[in-house]
Amino acid sequence: MTKDEKKRLNKIAELGCILCSEIFGIEGTPSELHHVRRYGAKRSASPILPLCPEHHRGNSGVHGLGIKGFESKWNITCEKLLERVDQKLGKAD
Ligand SMILES: [Zn+2]
Ligand SMILES: [Zn+2]
Repeated sequence: MTKDEKKRLNKIAELGCILCSEIFGIEGTPSELHHVRRYGAKRSASPILPLCPEHHRGNSGVHGLGIKGFESKWNITCEKLLERVDQKLGKAD
């Protein structure tokens, strides 16, 4: 991993959980990095969502529910959440 990549990952983590922000309006929940798998894409090139432990690995999280269950429970797609991450990163710069 290059320094720039590390910097980017830190910035994403610092945004806090993107679902807490979108659904509950809570900013800066400490987050873990979730790699969104895209067909045929390398893991290192996969886009990343910052999610708190509950929304990442918990019962209401993307791993607990699976992508489809997660998206229908929260009525938002991972692609939409990725857009929001990009918007927030843009603002932070
Ligand atoms: Zn959360
Ligand atoms: Zn994950």
